[in-house]
Amino acid sequence: MSKTVKIASIYPTLLGTYGDGGNVAALRHIAALHGITVSVDEVSPGQKVPANADIYVLGGGEDTAQSAAAAALHASGALAEGVKNGAAVLSICAGYQILGHTFLDAEGKPSSGLGLLDVTTDRLEKRAVGELVAHPLSTGPSGISAVLTGYENHGGFTHLGSGVEPFASVTSGIGNGDGTTEGAINGRVIGTYLHGPCLVRNPQVAEQLLSWAVDCKLEHIVEAEVEALRRERLDFVSKSR
Ligand code: GLN
Repeated sequence: MSKTVKIASIYPTLLGTYGDGGNVAALRHIAALHGITVSVDEVSPGQKVPANADIYVLGGGEDTAQSAAAAALHASGALAEGVKNGAAVLSICAGYQILGHTFLDAEGKPSSGLGLLDVTTDRLEKRAVGELVAHPLSTGPSGISAVLTGYENHGGFTHLGSGVEPFASVTSGIGNGDGTTEGAINGRVIGTYLHGPCLVRNPQVAEQLLSWAVDCKLEHIVEAEVEALRRERLDFVSKSR
């Protein structure tokens, strides 16, 4: 494919808990498998966020790092512009909460998010920590059918508004907060609580992001090592029930 897909990794030093930087490595790897050339812009706090990326990736973070990232993204405005231009976004945990209307800061005060997903986040009674398994909605817009596996660790309870659909429905774990829905999606913007890293455990999500970027549905490429990892993690959850 002739197009170079521009990937922007947003503030990996603030938003990169639980190996979420691995999502960008996975995107590079899966793009190469499909013969797609990518460029990766690792944007540090204080650097300019590009408005012309094809895929934005935001990971998870501690409460204070999350607030700092949200403030810098507000000031920049470039992520909103990128989304308006049709970019795809994968946002994990803190990144997901930042994309919503509001989330709670480290002191429990509401902070404003970017409003790119119609969700708001308050607090869970008990922190959600552990393996998370969810099924994408069969009629949903994600284009993904494979069961999703990941790891969650968050204190936020995310409530979905009418402008988004759940990304998936929870089979095991907490997800958005009540143990039924996981993440949110609107168009090409995905928010999820799946660490893992998400794209290493769920290559079909990476293939969907790349499909949007190149405007062509990529066929899933099976890799034995990834299948073995998925099987091991999913079996672990079934056995611990
Ligand atoms: N600070 C947020 C919370 O605890 C997000 C945590 C994370 O990104 N893992 O809800």
